[in-house]
Amino acid sequence: MKQTALVDLHLHLDGSLDLRWAYQRSKDLGIIAEDATYEDYYKIVFETKYKNREDGFQKFALMCDVLQSREDLFSATYDLVQRLNEQGLIYAEIRFASQQHTLGGLSQKEALEAVIAGAKRAMEELPEIHVGIIDALMHKGNSASVNHEENLLTVMNAKEFLGNGLVGIDLAGYENNCDFREYAPYFKKAEELGIPYTIHAGEMGIGEHVLQALEMHPQRIGHGIDCVQKEEILSEVIKTQIPLEICLTSNCRHKLPYMQHPIRELLKKGACVTVNTDNMTFSRTSLANEHDQLRLMGVPEEVLQQCTRNAILASFASEELKEELLDRAERIME
Ligand SMILES: [Zn+2]
Repeated sequence: MKQTALVDLHLHLDGSLDLRWAYQRSKDLGIIAEDATYEDYYKIVFETKYKNREDGFQKFALMCDVLQSREDLFSATYDLVQRLNEQGLIYAEIRFASQQHTLGGLSQKEALEAVIAGAKRAMEELPEIHVGIIDALMHKGNSASVNHEENLLTVMNAKEFLGNGLVGIDLAGYENNCDFREYAPYFKKAEELGIPYTIHAGEMGIGEHVLQALEMHPQRIGHGIDCVQKEEILSEVIKTQIPLEICLTSNCRHKLPYMQHPIRELLKKGACVTVNTDNMTFSRTSLANEHDQLRLMGVPEEVLQQCTRNAILASFASEELKEELLDRAERIME
């Protein structure tokens, strides 16, 4: 039987923790009551009703609470790579935002070092998988000035660690907080410094964000699905062949039926699509499951295989590693 090699370019560390580990650490650190059961914790994570989508981001804060020390960042990253390896991935780019991990006294740089160290240790032990780390700038409040210093620091740290565990940067958080273009200066800086970047855009209902992101010259777009709202946005996505990091289940958790997800339209019209998980824990998914859902939606195997090739080519891996990954993927997909 033909199969598809597994490459995930859009995977958040905080949204992909082993929940039992997060539960135990939450108890150890006094974040939840000593006598709280795993079921209690599970309910807090999965059944808390948020009044809107922005509010839903509190879920991530719950996970970031247990990721405030070097040891915990190291362990969580190491464990995630191990699980990805068990699932058969050959390459993954794991993203997190170092500025969300300074509540326990770590600097952004120390948080980044701990995540990179966890990834490196796992890779030493598990030669079948390669991973790269993406540090994300954050949307916070109603102006980019709210965390200007932090975002600038993310760019500068990225320059320092580029090629040494870190592969690029991103812009994450609730994307409708303020004028998207306020973030242009950070990416101009990244471009000057030769740092690859992807930008979350067109996930929260505003298709124009995809065009605004494209003006910042990213190598990829996170999600981008709202580009289907307008013909001129969609045609720009197709014309530029900007790789889209599509996260099917993650998008569908906001009450969108799988069959109404724009991925099939994007594939049919010739957009450059990659398949990703976004948040393995919050979306209760794996990359293999994402592929299975697409198969159930009628996406042919050769199209899934092309999505994997797209992902390898659009990855922030070195040219040498890309070649190796393409080779391995073709052997798996033979
Ligand atoms: Zn994301």
